[in-house]
Amino acid sequence: MTLALERVTTPAVTAAAAVPLVTGGERDYANLDHAASAPCLEAVRRAVDEFLPHYASVHRGAGFASQVSTKVYERTRDVLRRFVGARPSDAVVFTRNTTDALNLLARSVPRHTSVVLFDTEHHAALLPWRGPNVRRIPLPNTRLAAVSAVDSALAECPEGPRLVVVTGASNVTGELLPVAEIAAVARRHGARVALDGAQLAPHRPISVRELDVDYVVLSGHKLYAPFGAGALIGRGDWLRAADPYLAGGGATKLVRRDGDGIGVAWHSGVERHEAGSPNTVGVYALGVACEQLAASWDAVAAHERELLERLTRGLAAVPGLAELRLFDGAAERVGTVSFVLDGFEPGWVAAVLSAEYGIGVRDGAFCAHIAVRRLVERNGGEGKQALRVSLGLGTTTEHVDRLVTALRQIVARGA
Ligand code: PLP
Repeated sequence: MTLALERVTTPAVTAAAAVPLVTGGERDYANLDHAASAPCLEAVRRAVDEFLPHYASVHRGAGFASQVSTKVYERTRDVLRRFVGARPSDAVVFTRNTTDALNLLARSVPRHTSVVLFDTEHHAALLPWRGPNVRRIPLPNTRLAAVSAVDSALAECPEGPRLVVVTGASNVTGELLPVAEIAAVARRHGARVALDGAQLAPHRPISVRELDVDYVVLSGHKLYAPFGAGALIGRGDWLRAADPYLAGGGATKLVRRDGDGIGVAWHSGVERHEAGSPNTVGVYALGVACEQLAASWDAVAAHERELLERLTRGLAAVPGLAELRLFDGAAERVGTVSFVLDGFEPGWVAAVLSAEYGIGVRDGAFCAHIAVRRLVERNGGEGKQALRVSLGLGTTTEHVDRLVTALRQIVARGA
C-alpha cells in the first residue's frame, strides 16, 4: 500500500533494535499505541525543520521573522477551521492539547450551565465541569439508548444554558459515538454540543457543520504532529464573554494604573485566551499534519480498515481473550481495541510484549477508569485494567501478525 503520508522512523526503533526478539532476529519496534500519541509525519518533520531557523515571537515584533511567524500562526487558524469543517465565524483558540481545550471550554461556559455527558468519557472530558448542574450519566449499551439517555437527561435540566459533551471515538474501544444523533436531540432541548475529537480526528474527517456540533477539541500529538499544540474550535460568544483563561501579555489591550490598583482591558477575540508567548512551531506542525491528513483520507481509511480486520480476526482466535465493547452489536470504529486475557495480568502481558517481542501496547485504565472497570466487569473479569492496541499510519501487517502470534504464545506457555 502506498500512502501519501510518509512516517518518521521513531526513536523507539533504535531502542527496540537492542531488545532480543523471540525469533532471534532484530526487527523494528511495533508501536501499537497510536491512540496515546502518533509518530510524527515525515512531511511535518520537514516543514518544522524548514521553519525552525525563521521563527520569532508572534504578534509582538516588527521584524521580518516575527511577521512571518505571525502570518503562519494566524493562517493555521484557517487550516484548522477547514480541517474540522467549521463555520467561517467559528473561533479557533490554540491550546496545549485536548485536555487544555476542554478545561478552557469548561471555564468559559456561562454560570449555571447544565452539562450532560457519559461517565465513560476520557478524564479530560469527564472532569473539568463544575457545579450542581453537571450530570454524568451511565452509557447504555446500545447507540439508540445512548441518544435517548441524553434526551432524558436534557429534559430534566433546569432552564438556562445547556451543553452536551461527547467523544467522537472511544479511546478504550475505538467505537464511534452517535454524535450527529446526539446533536439533533441536543438542538431540540436548546443545548450546545462539544465534540471531543482527540480520537476521531486522526482517523476520520470531521465536519462541525454536518454533525451540527458547536465545539470540537483535538490534540496535535495524536494527529501525527509533535507534542504541545491543540485547539478548541467553535462558537465565539461564550469565549468572548468569559474571563481570560490565563492572565498575562498577549491577552490584554491595555493595562494601566487605576488608583491603587490596576485596570485591564482584555482582548475580546481569541487572543483573550492565549496569554503568553504561544507555541508557534507546534501550531505550525499541527496545521501541516492536518493538511496532510485532509489530503489522504481515502488512503488512511483503507490502511486502517485492512489492519483492523486483520487484528480483530487474529484476536478472536486467541484463547481466553475477551474484547471490551461499549455497544452491543457491530458498531463503526477506529483502529483501537481493548481486551483482557483470562488469567493474565495486563501489566505483565504488556511488559512481556515489549521486552520479548518488541511490541508497545498500553495497559491500565487509559484515563477512562469508569469505562474500563465497567467493561472489564461486563466481561466477567475482576480487575480494573485491560490491554489496549491502537493502530495508525505507523502500523504494518507484520506488526499486527507479530502481536497475535505473541499473544497466542504467551497464552500457550501460561502466566
Ligand atoms: N479525549 C480523549 C478521547 C483522549 O483519548 C485523550 C487522550 O488520550 C484526551 C481527550 C486527552 O488528550 P491530551 O492528553 O492530548 O490532552
